[in-house]
Order: sequence, then C-alpha cells, then structure tokens
Amino acid sequence: MAQRCYIVGNWKMNGMRSDLSEARAIDRASSRLPKVEVALAPPSTLILAMRDAVNHIGVGAQNCHAADKGAHTGDVSANMLREAGADFVIVGHSERRADHGETNEDVKAKAESAQAIDMGVILCVGESEAERDSGEAEEIVARQLAASLPDSCARLSVAYEPIWAIGTGRVPSVQDVGTMHKWLRAVLVDRYGEDGREVRILYGGSVKGENAAELLAAPEVGGALVGGASLSADGFVPIIVAA
Ligand code: PGA
Repeated sequence: MAQRCYIVGNWKMNGMRSDLSEARAIDRASSRLPKVEVALAPPSTLILAMRDAVNHIGVGAQNCHAADKGAHTGDVSANMLREAGADFVIVGHSERRADHGETNEDVKAKAESAQAIDMGVILCVGESEAERDSGEAEEIVARQLAASLPDSCARLSVAYEPIWAIGTGRVPSVQDVGTMHKWLRAVLVDRYGEDGREVRILYGGSVKGENAAELLAAPEVGGALVGGASLSADGFVPIIVAA
C-alpha cells in the first residue's frame, strides 16, 4: 500500500510562543501539499498552543516516560502528552540516549506506553562515527533496532539518524542511506512479518531543502526527521515541497 511521505520537524529544546508564527506558516504551506504528511514536535511546553495554532499538520512530543503516572519528578507520561494535544511521540533520539542514558529497553517501554493509548511512535536509531568507520554500521544499527522495537508495529515509524550527521551539515551518501534502510526493513519484516513492510523508515541528519529530494528518493526512505531546518518555514517548507 502506497503511503504518504512523512516529514517531521523535531524542534528539540527550541521554541517559544513567539515561534508559533513559523508553525502557522508551515501549516498553511502543508495544506497546499496534501500528498505529504507533515508534523512538528515542539517542546512539551508548546504542544497545547501549537495544537490550537495549526489545522493541517500533526503535533507530537519528543519523549515520554514509560509509566502512566507516579513519583517521577520532571517527567511527563504519554497520556499527559496526548491530553495536551500530541498525537505521536519520538522515542530513542540519540540526544536522549546520550544525555539521559536511555537504553534500548527504555526506548521499547516508552514506545509501548504510547502505543497502548493509540499514539504514533517515531523510534530513532543510528550509529556513531566510530561505528560507521568500523565498517559495521548496518549490523550495529540493525541490532540496536531489534532490541528497541515494541511488541507491536501499530502506528510505528522508525527514524534512521546517523549520530555524526545530526546538526553537522554532513550526510551519508544516498547509497549508504539506501543500504541501511534495506537492512532496517529486513529487521522489521523479520519481527512483524508482512506488517513490517508498512512501517515507514525516515531518514534524519542534516536534511535541508537542497538535499531532501535526493535523500527521499533512496530505497526504503519513507520520509525525513528534520531538526535545525524545521525551526523556520523558510527552512522546512522547501523540504516538504521536495517530498
Ligand atoms: P538535524 O537534526 O536536522 O539538525 O541534523 C536531526 C535530528 O536530530 O532529528
């Protein structure tokens, strides 16, 4: 089944109410490009306001706790995020794995907590520069994905984001992206059977208007997870157009 290309902006720890004008401009542009599914993941503090500000794009969260509620100071659960207006959550971003020590098991539990309340999940994986240089990036990332996957693939997307490409302006060759995505597809089919073919695999890491068309044309690339270039309509809309 042909799926729409999925272009998701990850605002990371950026965005105040004054930046909602960018979300509105992205929303307006997206309404004219119905063949592309567009979403933004602002910081949790902006989810409610962004949900009210847009009509055509999805709004999601960048992380959740795996528990529903409890004594977890500073954390937010998937159902709290959903109540605030998030319809999906990003889990396992390399910045969370590095800054907060999140393990594959944590990522799996977070994904399952979101799926349990029918939220979408974007599960991130990717290799370090040393792992790429070792010549075994595909095997390493395939193992990381297999260990992070939730039991069900309901509303699941996977984002392949090489750590060395995030925020650096460096991108893997289109051939390397295609090779990795084919490996990840094999992991998904191995785990979920034919349903694993429906899971969209996004590429992330220094996606810009200038390189988007080429990256999105690589085999098994079903969309993009975009950081820096998603913060403004000027940066993000050309990527949506390229899709
Ligand atoms: P970048 O970030 O587009 O700024 O490289 C991508 C990401 O971390 O999701």
